[in-house]
Parts: sequence; C-alpha cells; structure tokens
Amino acid sequence: MFMRIDKLQAELPVPKKPDPNAAAALQELLGGKYGEMSTLGNYMFQSFNFRNKTKLRPFYSLVSAIFMEELGHVELVSNGIAMLNNGPGDDTEEVDVSKAPFEDMKDARLAGSFFSNGGGAMPVNSNAQSWNADMVTTTGNLIIDLLHNFHLECGARLHKLRVYETLTDPTGREVCGYLLVRGSVHAHAYGLALKKITGVEIEKMLPTPNIKLDAIPECQKYLQEGSHRRLYRFGSPDYAEMAGIWSNDEVALPGDPPGNLEIVEGPPEGGKMAELLGNYGAFAPDYAPEEIFEVATKLYKKSR
Ligand code: MN
Ligand code: MN
Repeated sequence: MFMRIDKLQAELPVPKKPDPNAAAALQELLGGKYGEMSTLGNYMFQSFNFRNKTKLRPFYSLVSAIFMEELGHVELVSNGIAMLNNGPGDDTEEVDVSKAPFEDMKDARLAGSFFSNGGGAMPVNSNAQSWNADMVTTTGNLIIDLLHNFHLECGARLHKLRVYETLTDPTGREVCGYLLVRGSVHAHAYGLALKKITGVEIEKMLPTPNIKLDAIPECQKYLQEGSHRRLYRFGSPDYAEMAGIWSNDEVALPGDPPGNLEIVEGPPEGGKMAELLGNYGAFAPDYAPEEIFEVATKLYKKSR
C-alpha cells in the first residue's frame, strides 16, 4: 500500500510566462516511450509480479523503492506541465467569451491540453499519442527485467537531455535537471543489481548518453547535496534490504562528486506544490468561483 505526501520531490520555479509549447515538450518526459509513465508502469508491475520475494529480497526492495520514486516523478512532471500551461497565474481576469479570448490557444501544438484538460497534464507524449500498456515489460525473468530497466533509464536520460536542449524557461529546465540526476541514480542502481547477479560490471557503461551531469547547471545543487548517491525509502518501514545492492561499499560514478552510496530512510526534502490559480474565462474551475470558494471555506471550517 502507499502513503501520499503533499509535496513535490523538487521545488519548481514559477514560469516567467505561459508557454504551452514548452509544456508540450515536457509531455515527452511524462507519456513518451521512456517517460515517467513508462518507468512507473514497468517497476510497478515488476514489483507486483515479483516471484521469490523473500529469497530475492534485495532485488525486490530495489525495484519496489524505485517504483515509489517514479510515482513522484509522474507528479513532478505533471506539475511542471500545468505550471507552464498556466504561467505565473492571475485569477482576477474577466473575459468576454464572445471576443475569442483564447484565440492563441488554437495554434498551440497540443491544443487539446487546453480544450480537453484545462491546461493540465495527460499521459500522452509530446505529439499527444497515448501512453499505453505496450510500454510495460514484466517478463518474470529477473535479469531480463533488470536489463530492460537499465535500458529504460539510459533512454530516459536521452529524452531528458534532448528536451532540456529545447527549453529556455526555468520551470522545464529544473524538471529536467532534477530528473537527470535521479535517472543517473536509477541506471547506476540497475547496473549494480545486474553486476551482483552476473559479475559483469555493466555500470562502467555509464553515463549513457555520454554527457556528465556537471555540464548541466540545473543539476549542480542536487549533486552538491549528494542526491546522485542516494536512494530513498520515503518513510516506509520496508525495503531497507536494497542496501545489499545500493551499498556503502560502492561509490558515486566517475565525474560526479565523490562519496559512498547511501539509503535515506525518509523522502527527499523536496518543495511545495505550486498553487495553480483558476482560469475562469476557460471555466476552470468555473465562471463564478466565489460561490465554490464559499462552499469550500465552510467545509474547511467544519473540518477544524
Ligand atoms: Mn523517473
Ligand atoms: Mn528512473
């Protein structure tokens, strides 16, 4: 079972202006072949389907803990997309619906994210193709699943670098910077898991693609705090056994700040979720917000 924390794994800066096409680019990191829906779906079903959980506890724990983190990555990218679609926010604006107040939106690349989703994120890629179950690999063969996961994390890194190279807005760049560090951890972790089973030092292939994190300004604060050496248990009493793989005997990848690998009991410090304001001209949450706010205020007082 799961516990939810009402924070994001990283603090995202507020966009300088709405940028629906930047939000569309970030959709690739959510619903693309190597996006967060894919890493989540793969590790989630591998964890659910795992055989010999007791005998293979360190491997089961590793896949399960990384799956928990991926759920938070889906949340992080989704928030980034919604922030870029909305911009800094202004919930006072009154519009005349008869004057095409959202004329620009018909030319946005993913116009459906406005028309159907009110500026929110959806499990689709940057061209609005649906994410689907074909992106999930869960073979029941531990080595093949771990090899798939290693490939998936390297592919995700490729995605993120390319999306990063298209973005100027700080919100999307921060999403990429944080996830590049975490993707590097996951590729490293699956490489170490394969090494423990097979003896092959597959982690020596990293980083793939061959761009080190020190080339990305947005990665630097995460490297300084040691995020590249950490796996998290998010406060769960379980999954400590992954320390057999992500162990203190192993060290950071060459080129990253040195140090031993570590397991952190709690979640990352993270940051607060952006307060996205309504867009009343687009009926989100609706055209007369005062009435809904009044109902919510009464319910809130009753709960105290
Ligand atoms: Mn991820
Ligand atoms: Mn990952």
